[in-house]
Amino acid sequence: MNVILLGPPGCGKGTQAGWLRTEIGMRHLSSGDLLRRHTADGTDLGREAAAYMSAGKLVPDQLVVAVVLAEIAADPRGEFLLDGFPRTVAQADSLATAFCAYNLELTAAFVIDTPDEVIEARISGRRQCPDGHVYHVEHDPPQRRGVCDHDGKRLKQRDDDRADVVRERLAIYHADTSPLIAYYERRGLLHRVDGTLAPTEVSAQIRARLGVAAR
Ligand code: AMP
Repeated sequence: MNVILLGPPGCGKGTQAGWLRTEIGMRHLSSGDLLRRHTADGTDLGREAAAYMSAGKLVPDQLVVAVVLAEIAADPRGEFLLDGFPRTVAQADSLATAFCAYNLELTAAFVIDTPDEVIEARISGRRQCPDGHVYHVEHDPPQRRGVCDHDGKRLKQRDDDRADVVRERLAIYHADTSPLIAYYERRGLLHRVDGTLAPTEVSAQIRARLGVAAR
């Protein structure tokens, strides 16, 4: 099974991906996490990507494609859960070419539909540890305030979760990423899920469509 999670920033892709990863053993591939790792490690690619990321802009296709396809190439046996990639039609085409080369098939693309005003309210409460575990101060708080349950690291608000940057990211989502909805619909792979539902309900719907046991 190979699955893409689509949707605006803050729609819950990371939360859903985390559950699917731990419970059904899929391999979570988050382009945002991969880029943040490059940035933290101070690689050339990370330095180049950082300026785009902190401004809420998309990192150029060739950089992101290189990072994600390198991960796929390192172990191309499938079971990928792609979170945040692809974000443009050009990225989707590169992914299709790579899947073809490795004999992998895409099972489904889920779009977690969530209105902008819900996203803006939600993202302001989002906190994350350096290893990518994500919480929400109200809806999904850690056991100890400001500390990650998984690794005890301090939680921080991402620079790109600031209100002005979030508005920019939403505008980019509508312009560059939402065409992927029609792209995967044409290929008969698209499933829509209502992102305003409770995360457990969103998860139940995704599992039902994938034919895997409910939580
Ligand atoms: P995310 O963690 O998925 O919200 O991504 C954080 C930031 O990383 C985005 O706002 C972009 O700057 C960059 N990014 C992540 N994935 C991509 C992608 N597929 N294409 C371009 N930029 C990306």
